[in-house]
Amino acid sequence: MKLVLIGAPGSGKGTQAKYLTEKYHIPQISTGDLLRAAVAAQTPLGRQAKAIMDAGQLVPNDIVIGMIRERIARPDADQGFVLDGFPRNIAQAVALDDILDKMGKPIDAVLQFDVDAEMLIQRMTGRLTCLACGALFNLFTQPPAVDDCCDECGGPLRHRSDDNEETIERRLSVFETLTQPLSDYYKQKGILHMVEAHGDIAEVTKRVKSALRGLRPKRTPVKPMIEPVTTPSKSAKPEIKHTRVSEPKPKLRPRKKLKSITGNTRVKKLEIEKELPKVTGKKTTRACLLY
Ligand code: AMP
Repeated sequence: MKLVLIGAPGSGKGTQAKYLTEKYHIPQISTGDLLRAAVAAQTPLGRQAKAIMDAGQLVPNDIVIGMIRERIARPDADQGFVLDGFPRNIAQAVALDDILDKMGKPIDAVLQFDVDAEMLIQRMTGRLTCLACGALFNLFTQPPAVDDCCDECGGPLRHRSDDNEETIERRLSVFETLTQPLSDYYKQKGILHMVEAHGDIAEVTKRVKSALRGLRPKRTPVKPMIEPVTTPSKSAKPEIKHTRVSEPKPKLRPRKKLKSITGNTRVKKLEIEKELPKVTGKKTTRACLLY
């Protein structure tokens, strides 16, 4: 199953992506997570991306498109994937279609999570992420049992550096201007499903389930394995193969010396025929001709 999740930051894409990875046994591919991993590893790309992410802006298209192209081609994404946070503008959506067309893996469905701005701000300011396993918590709606400690794996919980009010507002306005137009883009393709994303996680999961009910993964068109036909040039002569076939020669008795076949020719001929071995078909004719 090839799924794309779009929605404003804090709309619950990441949480529902985790449910979908378990349901369909496919990986969650989040450009935000990939970028944060690059920032943590202090790679050149991570250093370039950090300032942009902290400012709540979009990282340049060529960087995120390259990351997605490489990630989707990995073997664990053979049976599908849940894209979380990609695409985020029309140029990325067009690039994604191009990548998937070439791989014969068309998108099966796009889920757009719809939730009002007030709720988004509350979700983002309270959001906590486990640094070890990526599990999500919320100080207001889903607090961990022990402060700053993951219920799932005991890993440390952190508040994202871009989940502060100032950056949140910028990210929401980037969403409105650049990401929201994707809604029409996918509606026109007939693969958009709107999901009301208010309420608790279980309620939203129910709506996700009903949006995807009856959906079957699109078949990957299989390219026929036809060998290229080469037209022979006019000057080229067709190749003729000569095969020597050795045919056993019929065994004939040594030619009998006849004293005379004059006289009563008919009687003599009958005598000769009596001495001939019984042969059939062509051999008979040939043998007869010898005598
Ligand atoms: P997210 O975790 O999806 O909210 O992403 C966090 C930040 O990573 C965003 O505010 C952007 O700066 C950057 N980012 C994530 N995905 C993309 C994308 N598809 N295109 C550009 N920037 C992205």
